[in-house]
Order: sequence, then C-alpha cells, then structure tokens
Amino acid sequence: MASMKNLARKSMLPVALAIAAVCLFGDDPARLQRERMVAEQIESRGIRNPDVLRVMRATPRHLFMPADVRYMAYDDHPVPIGHAATISQPYIVALMTELLAPAKQHRILEIGTGSGYQAAILGQLAGEVYTIEIVAELADSAAKALRDLGHDNVRVRHGDGYQGWPDFAPFDGIIMTAAPAEVPPALIAQLARNGRLVAPVGTMRMQELIVIDKKSDGTLRRRTVCPVIFVPMRRGGK
Ligand code: SAH
Repeated sequence: MASMKNLARKSMLPVALAIAAVCLFGDDPARLQRERMVAEQIESRGIRNPDVLRVMRATPRHLFMPADVRYMAYDDHPVPIGHAATISQPYIVALMTELLAPAKQHRILEIGTGSGYQAAILGQLAGEVYTIEIVAELADSAAKALRDLGHDNVRVRHGDGYQGWPDFAPFDGIIMTAAPAEVPPALIAQLARNGRLVAPVGTMRMQELIVIDKKSDGTLRRRTVCPVIFVPMRRGGK
C-alpha cells in the first residue's frame, strides 16, 4: 500500500508542476523565457533598478520582431530586424534604460526607433516618449507594434534624428540607439537642464557608451560607461 501511495504521489508531481507553471506563466510561454532573460542576462550583470527589471519581464520583445527571427527574441545578443537595423541585446536595453533613469514626469526622446522595443520599455517608465526613425518601413512597423500593444504615450516619426524633434523640446532624457561620430549639437540644445543623454559615440565599428548630464546652470558633464557596438547613425536620409 505504501508503495502504491508513493507511486501515486510521484505520478502527481509532473501534473502539479504543470499546474504551477500555468498559474505562474498563464498561456504566455514567452514569459518564462523573459524571466530567464532577466535573471541570467540582466540581473546577473548588475542591473538593479526594480522598475527596469519589471518592465523587461513584462514586455513581449518577440512581438517587435519580424516572424522569421522571433525564435532569437530572448537570446543574449542583438537580432537583425531588416534594413540594416538590429534590436539591441536585452542587457544593453536594460543598461541604457537604467542609465537614463526615466520617471513618470519625464518626456523622453529616442533617436533610432528600429523595432520600437526600446521605446516600449521607456513608455512604461516615462510620461511621454518621442522616437525618430530614418527608415520609413521601420517607423511604420514600430508604430503598428506599439499601437497594437497599447503604448499610447509613444509617438513615432519618420525622419532624420540629427535635428531632434524641436516641437516637443526640451527633453528630460535623450537616448540614441544608432551611433553618431559625435553627439549632434541639436540634441544637446534640446536636452533640458537637469536632463541626461545616453548614447553610443564613435567612428569605428565599436563605440563608447557615454552619458552627458546637463546641470541646472546649463553646463555639461560627460562620462564614459563601456565599449558597445551599435549600427552607425545615417546622415541626411542616406
Ligand atoms: N532602439 C531600437 C534599435 C534600433 S537600431 C530597438 O529597440 O529596436 C538603430 C536604428 O537607428 C535603425 O533602425 C536605423 O535605421 C536608425 N537610424 C540610423 N540613423 C538614423 C538617423 N539619422 N535618424 C533616425 N534614425 C536613424
């Protein structure tokens, strides 16, 4: 009898685990992948901001990608999304978001919408997000993904990010996800006092991630965070 009971207990274990998994992750199997992505790629590398971790767990990164590359959505590397663009590695998205420190009272400008994923992350942490993309097809597909997922506070524009978006300046935070040789002066001008800009800067295939703080008296303080690899920023619609 005892062994029968044991057998019954053992055979119930997979069922109990399956029920627990459904309770935890519902019918969204990608949620488990995101939990793993955050634990293994992001927390383990020192990202601690609980809001950044929360939105990265919650945001369906795969839905911002073309269907043929979705199987790589939660891998530890950037993924090509067409038109010479890439969706950044999850850790880099988390790092840049933590550095930018968006808050509900902030208005943020992003240069290089790409898939729209970084904008979706920022939209959940900031009050308003304005994002500019130079490739019309990407601007359109990102705007659609953002709309479908209900990110109503993110506005996408097709255009050249070198000029920024003067109509909505100044911005409390500016994030660039394509690398310029040097930070465009228009973006520095559109950064609010006490605002912060985060960008990959450099002319080589590898750049430096930099942070520029504009202090309350308008002076700038610049620091370098780490080497990064981003697609170069295009000039004038090329
Ligand atoms: N933030 C994106 C990553 C984008 S990759 C994401 O979350 O998916 C960089 C993007 O910058 C590319 O889509 C590229 O087309 C765009 N880009 C390059 N030069 C640009 C420019 N001058 N103005 C606006 N976007 C630009």
